[in-house]
Amino acid sequence: MSNNFILNSTHVEKAVQNAKKHNTAYAEMLDFYGRIFIAQEESKSRLRIEPIEIADKILDLKRREAFPLVEIQEFTYDLSESADLFVRICNFAREANPKLAESATAIIDAVDADLKPGILFDALLSGNEAEYENVAETLQVDKQILGLLAYNSIKPSLCTAAEQLAAYLTPNQPWSKGYCPICGSAPILSFLVAEGERTLICSFCWHNWQAKRVYCPFCENTDNAKLQYLYNEEEKDLRIDVCDNCKRYLKSVDTRKADRLIYPPLEQITTLHLDMKAREEGFEPGIKLYPGG
Ligand SMILES: [Zn+2]
Ligand SMILES: [Zn+2]
Repeated sequence: MSNNFILNSTHVEKAVQNAKKHNTAYAEMLDFYGRIFIAQEESKSRLRIEPIEIADKILDLKRREAFPLVEIQEFTYDLSESADLFVRICNFAREANPKLAESATAIIDAVDADLKPGILFDALLSGNEAEYENVAETLQVDKQILGLLAYNSIKPSLCTAAEQLAAYLTPNQPWSKGYCPICGSAPILSFLVAEGERTLICSFCWHNWQAKRVYCPFCENTDNAKLQYLYNEEEKDLRIDVCDNCKRYLKSVDTRKADRLIYPPLEQITTLHLDMKAREEGFEPGIKLYPGG
C-alpha cells in the first residue's frame, strides 16, 4: 500500500473533516458516517476476540484450491462491544436524516424492550434474511437500514478477525482470484498505488490484496477490449472500471493523484456519485453489502 493510507485511528477524524470540506454535497452524510468511523476505530481498540484457527489440513486444501480462508458464518465478534456500538450508531442515526432517525428511534425502543442486537449480528453472518424481514416488519423499519446498522456494529470485529487471519495467507504469493482471500466477498473499491500496482478492498472484511491491473474481478475477464473506464475531467484521481463482459463496475481511486489521507470506508462514501454514474451507464455493482441490499 502507498504511504498516504491511514494506518491509525487518530487520522480518521482529520480525513473526515477534510472530506467534508471538499465534498460539500456529502456534508450531511459525512456527519453521520464520520461519527460511525471514529466510533468504530475507538471500538477496535477495546475489542476482545479470539483469533479464528484453521487446521493445517484445511489450510493446505484452501491454498491448493484457492478457496477463501473462512466462510462468512465463521466470523466471530465481541458481543458486548458490538451491542454497545449498535446503540451508539443508532443514536447517531437519530440525528441524521428523517428516514434514518425514525428507524433508529424504533430500533432503540426495541432494544430497550427486548430486542437483542446479537440476533441481528448472527442473522447477518449466517445470511438469514428471514430474520431481518421479521424484525423489520415487527418494528416497521427498513430492512436495509437494519442491516446497515448491524453490519457497522460488528465491522470492527470483522476487520480485526481479518487482520488476524491474514497471517495464514502465503506471503509473496499473488492471489489471482477476484474474491477476497480471507472471506470470499467481492471487492468494493480498487486502489492504484505506487508504481501503478492495483489493490482491491474487500466489501465485507476490508482486507486488501494485490490484483492484476487489467482484470475484472467479477468475471475474471482479462480481455483489454472489453475492459474500459469511465472518467471525469474534474476528478483526476477517480475512475470507474467497467467490464463489457459481465456489465459490472468497480470504483477506483488513483492514490498517486489523491493529495489526501486515504481511509477506504471514507472513499467509499465520497464516491457514491460514481455508483450513480455507473448505473446510469447500464452497469451493476458486483457487491451485496447488507441483507436486502
Ligand atoms: Zn474479505
Ligand atoms: Zn466482468
